Formats: sequence, C-alpha cells, structure tokens
Amino acid sequence: MKEHKFENRCIYCGESDLVHDVHVGLTNEIGDVGLSYSKFITGTEPIYADICTSCGSIIRLHVHKTDRKWITKKPKS
Ligand SMILES: [Zn+2]
Repeated sequence: MKEHKFENRCIYCGESDLVHDVHVGLTNEIGDVGLSYSKFITGTEPIYADICTSCGSIIRLHVHKTDRKWITKKPKS
C-alpha cells in the first residue's frame, strides 16, 4: 500500500529508504515514551518516528492524535 507523502526522501542523505510510523518504545516495552496529556489521569500519547534506513536519521517524530489536552512546562495553578 502506497502512502501519501509530501517528501519521500531523506533530508539528510537524499535516499528514499524511509520507514514510516515506527513505534518509539522502551527496550523492555513497559509503557510508552510519549507526550503527556491531561485526562482524568495523566496519559501518554505514543510517539511514532519516520526513519531513514540508509543513514539512520530520524526524519520526523509525530503523534497520531493531536487533539489532546497537552501538558506543557508551565505549571497549572
Ligand atoms: Zn538518510
């Protein structure tokens, strides 16, 4: 299945050996490395990476859900 992409080449080495939506996880797979958001409890939205298998660069980090109540550095009062 062909995905729609704006750019199908690595911005670093120019090769087109890209793999998309690679799950960014911990080595022992306990939970996710992700962005925190507020729900009833603090949730973590998993991060996915697009990687270049030619030079090993991570082209892009992204999440699938963007409408979260994201927790930023500024503390809530
Ligand atoms: Zn590359």
